[in-house]
Amino acid sequence: MSPHADVLQWEHLPFPKTLPQFQKLFPSDEACAAYLEGAKWPKGFVCPHCHEKGEPFRMATRTAVLTCRKCRKQTSLTVGTVMARTHSPLTTWFWGAYLVATMTPGISTVQFQRQLGLTRETAFQILHKLRAGMVRQNRDRIGGNLARGDHVEIDETYIGGVVRGQGSGPKGQTLVSAAVEVRTRPAKKGDKPMRRGGRYAGRLRLEIVPSRTEKALCTFVEQAVEPGAIVITDAYRGYNSLGTRGYQHLPVVEGGDPQVAEEFLPIIHLVFSNLKAWLQGTHHGRVSPKHLQAYLNEFVFRFNRRFYPFNSFRSLLGIGTNGEGPTYDGIYEGTWKHPTMASHHD
Ligand SMILES: [Zn+2]
Repeated sequence: MSPHADVLQWEHLPFPKTLPQFQKLFPSDEACAAYLEGAKWPKGFVCPHCHEKGEPFRMATRTAVLTCRKCRKQTSLTVGTVMARTHSPLTTWFWGAYLVATMTPGISTVQFQRQLGLTRETAFQILHKLRAGMVRQNRDRIGGNLARGDHVEIDETYIGGVVRGQGSGPKGQTLVSAAVEVRTRPAKKGDKPMRRGGRYAGRLRLEIVPSRTEKALCTFVEQAVEPGAIVITDAYRGYNSLGTRGYQHLPVVEGGDPQVAEEFLPIIHLVFSNLKAWLQGTHHGRVSPKHLQAYLNEFVFRFNRRFYPFNSFRSLLGIGTNGEGPTYDGIYEGTWKHPTMASHHD
């Protein structure tokens, strides 16, 4: 094995807390390449062309390419990752993914460009590919493996736009549906009463929905939540058919009292207020409806992986996920579509 292959054994260790620590882990393109090689072939290199096992040739000038000793064909270490066909050094990608994974609540293109010493175009391309990595994984339905008594809260909210107060609906706003697992920490003997009764958020799904119709809201739930789960919603009639769609549906009758909704849907309201603060704070509220789903995806990614930074780092680079992300042209010409749950189920 190559000298840096043991980095894979650091997975169980805490994620590096500082950039110097991280750079010690990945000091060079060789170290990054060794990490990719170890992730691809945990038991050692196998040539994808002739299936020969055994040490390949490595070139000092092209660290991301391995050459088979038997058939002499070359294999790229970045195939199937967001780094495929890249012209940037592997260290740029690794350090970039570290910044994106650890900078809470996110990083702007300008900050990213300055920190890594890149041109604006390169920074834009890398950052967008890393962000695309935020949605490739775990698009399965939530709520499937909850403990007894745990449930899923579901609600919808309007994001952005201007409220002009004319008639009923808010103008220029985008409707977003959310589903979040609500789990409970088991109380230990002698514990003080816990905040929110020990309830905390599990996994989250957020999706733009076209309208507040029953069809739109229930389609979201069916794509986001495993049938059979206990789901709590407000008493809006759009959710009425969830019971016949296979869920254990518990509508909360608010009687127009927002306090009641707070009390019975506390976690989802917390998610909505965090989401809005994040859009306002990091992105100054200037998120166009066209790009909103990408920001929702980023929020969900950070939310669902907040306890697992190493997973998040690997997902961003597309290591072990076989996702190459959008092309540069796709981003610029708008042919790249931000993945949604619907596109995932295609
Ligand atoms: Zn070969």
